[in-house]
This record gives sequence, C-alpha cells and structure tokens, in this order.
Amino acid sequence: MGDNDNGPHAESGIRGGSLRRLLLTLIDAAGTERSRIIPRPHIAAALDSGVHASISSAALFTPRDEPIDAAGLDAVIGDVLVRPDASRLALIDERMQLGWAPADVLWPEGTPFFGCGRYAVRRTVENLMAGGLRARIGFEIEFSLIRDGAADSGPRPAHEGPAYGQRPLLQNELFIDALLDDLEIAGVPVLQVHAEHGLGQFELALAARDPLAACDDYLLTRLVIERVSLRHGLTASFAPIPPVGAAANGMHIHLSVMQGESNLLTPTAPDTPTRDGLAVIAGILDALPAATALLCGSESSYERLRPGRWSGASLCWGVQNREAAVRYIPSTAQAGAHGANIEVKPGDATANPYLAVAALLAAASDGLARRTTPPAPIELSPLRLSVEEREARGIRSLPSTLVDALSLLNESAMLRRQLSDRLVDLYVAVRMPRP
Ligand code: GLU
Ligand code: MG
Repeated sequence: MGDNDNGPHAESGIRGGSLRRLLLTLIDAAGTERSRIIPRPHIAAALDSGVHASISSAALFTPRDEPIDAAGLDAVIGDVLVRPDASRLALIDERMQLGWAPADVLWPEGTPFFGCGRYAVRRTVENLMAGGLRARIGFEIEFSLIRDGAADSGPRPAHEGPAYGQRPLLQNELFIDALLDDLEIAGVPVLQVHAEHGLGQFELALAARDPLAACDDYLLTRLVIERVSLRHGLTASFAPIPPVGAAANGMHIHLSVMQGESNLLTPTAPDTPTRDGLAVIAGILDALPAATALLCGSESSYERLRPGRWSGASLCWGVQNREAAVRYIPSTAQAGAHGANIEVKPGDATANPYLAVAALLAAASDGLARRTTPPAPIELSPLRLSVEEREARGIRSLPSTLVDALSLLNESAMLRRQLSDRLVDLYVAVRMPRP
C-alpha cells in the first residue's frame, strides 16, 4: 500500500498511478455531490488513506448549502476522512487522464461514518446475504437537456419531440455520440438512450448490477452527462420539475432478489412471482410511505409525485402498470423470466441514490422476514377507480408533501432499525424545509 499503483479497477483496468488528476465524489444527505480534485503526486495517498474534510462539508449542508447541527454533530467541529474507492476507479477523460472514484466517508480513525450512503448500502446488502440472498439493481435516469439561449429568450429545450421519437435523437446526435463514448470509456453499462415525452427530455437505462456498483454507476453517469452537456453548450437538468416543458424527470429503480441462481421474482404462475417474491413486493409497499422521503427528497418532488404523471404516485403494484408505485415486469427481452424484476417508480434525482436503494433493500428484507403478502395487483390505471373502489382494492397514497414524508420516515421503526437512528436523524434534519 502507499506505492504509486493501487491495482486495476475490476472492469476498466484503470490504475491510480497512471492518472494525472483524480476527481472524487461523495453524495450527502442533501443529495448533493461534494467533490474535490487530487493532483497526480497525491492520488496514491488519497486512494490509500483518504483526504480530510470538515464534517459539515461531508454531511451537514442542507440542499440550500446552509450548514446545520444535526444528529449530535456540531457543524463547526470535527473532521471526517473521505476515501475514494480504488476498486471503482473510472476514466473520465482519456486526453486529460482524468479519473473518478466514488468516496466512502469514515471517521478519522477509519471506522465507517453513519451518514455514509455507501456504508448504508453495504449494510443492507449484508442483511440480505445473511439470509442467503443478493439483490440486483438497475437505474433509469431521466433528464431535460436545455440549450443556452440568448439572454432574453430564456431556456430552450434541446428538442420538441415527438415523444420517444427519432427526430430528437438526430437533432442531438453529436451530444449522444459523445455521451455514449464517454460512458463506455468510464465503464458504465448503458442499455439504451431514448427521447422521453417531455420537451428536451431524454432517458438512459443502465444494466442491473450489484446494488453498490449500480449506485456508483448512477453517480458516474450523472457526472458524464453533465460534462458532455457542458462541452456542447447544453445544460442537463435532473430536477423532478425541470425548467422546460411539462413532463417530470424520474429516477426509477429496478430491483430483483436472487437466491443462488433463482430469481424470487420469476413468475411461477402467469404474471405471479414466487411466494418470496410477493413478500419482497409487500415489504416494499408497506415501507414506501416512510421511505418516500428517501426517494423523493425535495419539495418539488411532490409536485411530480401526482397521479397521471406516470411517477407511481398510487401505492399499489401491477403487472406492467406505469401508474403503480411498484411495476412488476415478469420477463425481459434479454433474460426472459429469469430477468423478472420490479420497477419502483416514485424516486427522483433529488434523492441520495445510495440511501434510496438501502431503504428498498431494507424493505425487501423486512417483507421476507415477515413473510407478508401484498394485496392483489392492480390491472388498470388507479385513476379509473373511484375513491371507494381504490380503498376496497387496498390502494393507498404516498405522502403528498416533503414535510409529511419526513415525519413518516422519522417514525419508521423498521428504517431506523435497519439504517440506524443517527442516519435517519441526520437525513430528516438536513432535508426538513426551512423558512
Ligand atoms: N417521466 C416520468 C416520471 O417522472 C416517467 C415516464 C416513464 O414511465 O418512463 O417518472
Ligand atoms: Mg422513462
């Protein structure tokens, strides 16, 4: 350790010693990426031992960049270590030899800091593993692409449709070409890119991987999208309610749970997963009201999270149902029924993706431990049902404001037990809207 070579990244073969610059990134409870750039002579030491950061800069800023005291921490006292993960080094720019790595946050003596999202994912993964299970996670990333307009013309979308059309792809061919090249160099497994139905809106779908790698891929993808858009005179907005158009941006999370080589979500009867697969769905539905704050972290998230927006605002599940919070996908083109998964739709990019995934894994473990079953799937848009019919079919609602969502999270014994009291206290304090 401590030499000038920290071993190859499992997929890209990147070695710390070959880089000129290292950009390291953590994402905090506010859902903001906090980064720094390390010059060549210090990269090996940073990968080995981390760099010091004030506790406030790593954990105590609100989404509006105001430092607060929370979870027993004082914003002006103390340091943490921010340590880039050498096993996740990615090359961001070949010409500049700029590397990137997601960082863990540790106490100065090297033990995990309770506010670290990567640590929360590792813990919930270990919980599943104790029961002989492993999860696979795949993200869908929606964003709106905006052209820098003249000062008086305001933001202009990079396309005006048609939704899911060919023209938006052709009009933005150079951007998409550079984006796919850079993501390939960075080692991100992209499945496809398409134009969404909003003005300027696109979506990238990433392949399913183990949960920590999938969350790292998500951060890396957002970084690459931002870099490539800046190079093309464009601005990418991941906001749930973007500055152009009426459509909202989501961050959908696909999840499956495996026991050995068998997938608990593979149907055993038409469109019906195994009993354990049903317990995973039920666990997630039961946890979602309290977990919503971790998936939808801003006040504007709740403008998006409304029926009719395909954002999964109705708390139910259904086979291929895009209005249900949990959409069951009984098979995929690539893997058939073995690729069966659920898509959790309510999340958006204001979440900390690690905490969002940790909450879903915790919910899945909880559903399995309780061997619970969900209500019957909903086979039509919940919008077609009256209030009474919705109630009769067990369709519930998700919280409709950030404050309500945070108070449900605050009261969740299950999430407190699995994610830790201090993490929940920190998150609630950082996200609570202030006048
Ligand atoms: N844009 C929608 C959202 O905010 C999702 C559209 C889709 O189903 O892909 O979640
Ligand atoms: Mg989409």
